[in-house]
Amino acid sequence: MYPSRFRYEAPRSLDEAISLLREGGDEAKVLAGGQSLVPLMKLRFASPELIVDINNVPGLGYHRADPDGTLRIGALCRHVHLERSDLLKATQPTMAAAAPLIADPIVRNRGTLVGSLCHADPQGDWASVVLALGGAIVAQGPGGRRTIPAADFVTGPFQNVLEHDEIAVEAVIPAAQGTRAGGYLKLERRVGDFATVGVAVAIETSGQTVTRAGIALTGVGGSTIAATAAADALVGGPLTELTIGQAADLAAEVARPRSDHRGSAEYKRHMVRTFVVRLLSRADGATAERAA
Ligand SMILES: Cc1cc2nc3c(=O)[nH]c(=O)nc-3n(C[C@H](O)[C@H](O)[C@H](O)COP(=O)(O)OP(=O)(O)OC[C@H]3O[C@@H](n4cnc5c(N)ncnc54)[C@H](O)[C@@H]3O)c2cc1C
Repeated sequence: MYPSRFRYEAPRSLDEAISLLREGGDEAKVLAGGQSLVPLMKLRFASPELIVDINNVPGLGYHRADPDGTLRIGALCRHVHLERSDLLKATQPTMAAAAPLIADPIVRNRGTLVGSLCHADPQGDWASVVLALGGAIVAQGPGGRRTIPAADFVTGPFQNVLEHDEIAVEAVIPAAQGTRAGGYLKLERRVGDFATVGVAVAIETSGQTVTRAGIALTGVGGSTIAATAAADALVGGPLTELTIGQAADLAAEVARPRSDHRGSAEYKRHMVRTFVVRLLSRADGATAERAA
């Protein structure tokens, strides 16, 4: 199917893009990689009257670390840049594990991490990763910039807190306070598919002690789920068989999977538990691994 008729604008600055969004009101949409928006438009699940394509706005394609270790990912940083990033391989095991598991190479060439967060698909992999890492989204609108914690960004399936005239300009991952470990595991029916179940684990340790932990779940609820109690159970002591088992049980408890053609709710919950155990047992689980 063809999309409904729409006006297309390709501004060359953020200010211009924001003015256009303001003008377009609720009928305007930002286009980044187009890998979620365009299919929705073709199916006519979305029929925006104005498309504001930000691909000509310079200076948004970066991912870089500040001197203090804070990671910044610009709105036009593609999945493929993160998949090939030496910086992530060296410093961000959870992100490095997730990047090659997003969709397929064609989608990864165009799609963006920030676009994925904005799209707020409960099956989007980056949302869990950024949530587990305690990240945030920086939005720019007519009144300037504001930083929104990832935990507060999504209001429901395919909904976020951005105003209609705001653009998410970057995602921010705070610097690690200790040694970073973790990973991302995804159960998919075939390579390139959306997650039947995905689990992101990000921990920081000082010596043997876990100083910070984040666990988040993909595809097992109406939105990405932060398994906060599971993560809290790990902090303050070493990783042991007991604490890993407790965290895995708590994570499985907060999952809200539904039985469907991909598997029963019970099976998906079991997979959440299995993935948490596997990721924590590996502690250095930076290696991307497909579970299918
Ligand atoms: C075949 C296929 C398989 C896929 N498989 C997976 C998968 O396994 N895992 C996964 O996580 N994703 C998957 N995706 C989705 C893909 O990751 C998309 O790239 C991502 O969801 C959206 O990023 P985008 O840059 O393409 O955003 P777009 O499609 O351009 O935009 C998506 C939405 O976000 C809004 N938006 C985008 N950027 C901004 C911004 N900077 N500020 C404000 N709003 C913005 C748009 O207005 C739109 O509403 C798949 C997509 C396809 C087509």
